[in-house]
Amino acid sequence: VKFELTILGSSSATPAHNRNQSCQLLNIDEQLFLLDCGEGAQLQFLKYKIKSGRIKHIFISHLHGDHYLGLFGFISSMHLQGRNTDLHIYGPPGLAEIITLQLKYSESVFNYMVHFHEISSDQPEVILDDEKVYVETMLMSHRIKCYGFIFHEKPKKRKLRKERLSEEIKLQEIIKLRNGEDLLNEDGSIRIKNEDVTFPPRPLSHFANCSDTIYLEHLAPQLQNMDLMYHEATFGDDMGERAEKTFHTTARQAATLALKANVKKLIIGHFSTRYRDLKPLLEQAREVFPNTYLAIEGENHNISGEKTNEIPTEESSLED
Ligand SMILES: [Zn+2]
Repeated sequence: VKFELTILGSSSATPAHNRNQSCQLLNIDEQLFLLDCGEGAQLQFLKYKIKSGRIKHIFISHLHGDHYLGLFGFISSMHLQGRNTDLHIYGPPGLAEIITLQLKYSESVFNYMVHFHEISSDQPEVILDDEKVYVETMLMSHRIKCYGFIFHEKPKKRKLRKERLSEEIKLQEIIKLRNGEDLLNEDGSIRIKNEDVTFPPRPLSHFANCSDTIYLEHLAPQLQNMDLMYHEATFGDDMGERAEKTFHTTARQAATLALKANVKKLIIGHFSTRYRDLKPLLEQAREVFPNTYLAIEGENHNISGEKTNEIPTEESSLED
């Protein structure tokens, strides 16, 4: 079981100090979601041996170049590599037009379908809803329209402990047990008590990606209790005024939001090229919110691994 964020880019504006522009990969049970696609994203996939063909959903926060100029190259390569499964791209209005124009003048037709989902509402909105996960938007406040994305895992079913079953049961009964019901005799008495033969499901994971924005304290309720929050932290304390002027956040402000939202872990990224050494930013954030980490390219943050529950290891169980 996986719920893991991989950092593939952490630089703002231009590449610098061996850091690429914004790009992150979220793996939920081997379903891959790409968040922003700065230049160089393709090379990062090669470097970290990630198969891009497995991505079905790409989320673009806003149309500043450092967040999406890698997109056309990325999706063109997928075509050249023989992709034939549909791709869904979520982003602000204008993205579909830009990509379509690039296709038009390169006289290219991909051999797979691209579905654009442009975000049209500034209110929180569910833009993806599938079996295992749903994704909700957040309006950030940047110089141009910018959205954040919150990934919520959906409730899982209980796991069956087959070795605890002493009698044959029907498929219908398995479904009942996995939904948490007891099996009853005809007279209404309990035949099989649910908790005797099932494990509880693992706690659900939640991740928020807060891209370019000025500090927004009013997001705290929507971000409450996130297991993991990524937040931009372009500047340190030394550049507080500049952060405000350019609609960016300082490391200390990102940490303050993490504290107010009571999140479990904070990752800061989108670092200004003026900082070769990121330690001061990390220290400033940790003064407010100790469980803060820098977005370091190639590093994984596995949320589900940090949650322990009664998860079966050797005993047989039915997986979702
Ligand atoms: Zn940016």
